[in-house]
Amino acid sequence: STKFVVNGLKAEIEGKEILKGIDLNIKGGEIHAIMGPNGTGKSTLASALMGHPKYEVTSGTATLNDEDLLEMEVDARARAGLFLAMQYPSEITGVTNSDFLRSAINARRGEGNEISLIKFIRQMEGKMKELDMNPEFAHRYLNEGFSGGEKKRNEILQMLLLEPKITILDEIDSGLDIDALKIVAAGVNAMRSEERGFLIITHYQRLLNYITPDYVHVMMQGRIVKSGGPELAQRLEDEGYDWVKEELGIVD
Ligand code: ADP
Ligand code: MG
Ligand code: MG
Repeated sequence: STKFVVNGLKAEIEGKEILKGIDLNIKGGEIHAIMGPNGTGKSTLASALMGHPKYEVTSGTATLNDEDLLEMEVDARARAGLFLAMQYPSEITGVTNSDFLRSAINARRGEGNEISLIKFIRQMEGKMKELDMNPEFAHRYLNEGFSGGEKKRNEILQMLLLEPKITILDEIDSGLDIDALKIVAAGVNAMRSEERGFLIITHYQRLLNYITPDYVHVMMQGRIVKSGGPELAQRLEDEGYDWVKEELGIVD
């Protein structure tokens, strides 16, 4: 079964240490949420795990099914089954969404095991329907002129087609209205299985009304400072983050 383990992960950007030792242990079937104030390192954690070149990991380990992710190039991490739905998906002119998706799927499947065009189109159209996406989005350039909500739905489309072992969703709920939020949550819930784990990064508890996490972690100043169950998310929603700071004597 899937096992994703992060141990003592430290990372810096342009010489400034942002992650100060992150530990996570996500098993297949589990959903973990990370909540925390802005600027605390949540997106940095996601990017460092994916291997974004801007973020330098200075110590710690990250493994997926005992394979060392930090040794791998970005595409190898994707092939190993790691997927990140980004907070700010980039636009790529000249590459249609459908071309992008097909090459991402083929990169994940590996050489000699490419998906047939017919099968790909059938799958893509089916998933787009589930996500209530206009079929024309298949033929538009990747994320170009997509609204915030359309970009987020498109990230979920990628997840549904790539069937990752570990999915990291970075603020997938920001910019979504309640109907889109429900559709995105349904997409995630449909993917839940014993083989898959999720790390859901979110500023607000709202999304967690529709996707029930097994564990909730609070991140502050580059560290996970508190962990609990779904009730922790509810308390953060009701009372904000100040009580955590007081409890732990964190000064900012
Ligand atoms: P969060 O996702 O929790 O809001 P981020 O991981 O985006 O936080 O940012 C953590 C810290 O790292 C912030 O102080 C931010 O200004 C800084 N930071 C993030 N990305 C960059 C970057 N590309 N260059 C310089 N500083 C960055
Ligand atoms: Mg932020
Ligand atoms: Mg962020």
